[in-house]
Amino acid sequence: MKACYPGTFDPITLGHLDIIERAAAIFDELDVLLMVNPRKKCLFDAETRKKMIEVSLASKGCSNVNVIIGEGLTVDFAAKTGSKAIVRGIRAVTDYEYELQQATANLMLDSDIETMFLIAKPEYSFLSSSVVKEIALNDGDISKMVPKEVVQPVMDAIHERYDLLKG
Ligand code: ADP
Repeated sequence: MKACYPGTFDPITLGHLDIIERAAAIFDELDVLLMVNPRKKCLFDAETRKKMIEVSLASKGCSNVNVIIGEGLTVDFAAKTGSKAIVRGIRAVTDYEYELQQATANLMLDSDIETMFLIAKPEYSFLSSSVVKEIALNDGDISKMVPKEVVQPVMDAIHERYDLLKG
């Protein structure tokens, strides 16, 4: 069975990577769905985010994982690409409320596609792309938070953006 793991991944974290590896071990095929939402301001453009996920996966041997850029409704994209399930990660109760709302809406839109939740590993339960960006902006150490391949690209991009803001 094929599933998809939709998200923003701005940038990918070790928490995301862990969910990808665990989902790839359950499903025959997994699409990491990088959903482009024009209303969401991202630090990295979609192509850069896609490349970051791909380089992070390169050493993992997940041959059944593809990274795809999509837009519109996740259920429509899932149906179009043949996914029967949507995988999401839950870190804490705060995630649960939002995720429950999304999953219920998706079920109403397409009852053929199920949402399946994987809980975050305790060591990643605090980890989010926003936390990574905040720490990077303040020159903190993000090497235990993002895949090693993307540590430097994240640091470079965040400082480039910050310098632009400073004028
Ligand atoms: P979105 O904007 O769709 O929430 P994210 O990239 O922030 O996109 O997250 C994608 C999915 O990964 C969400 O289900 C989120 O709860 C989950 N997730 C984010 N960080 C972690 C983490 N550290 N551990 C496990 N799951 C996570």
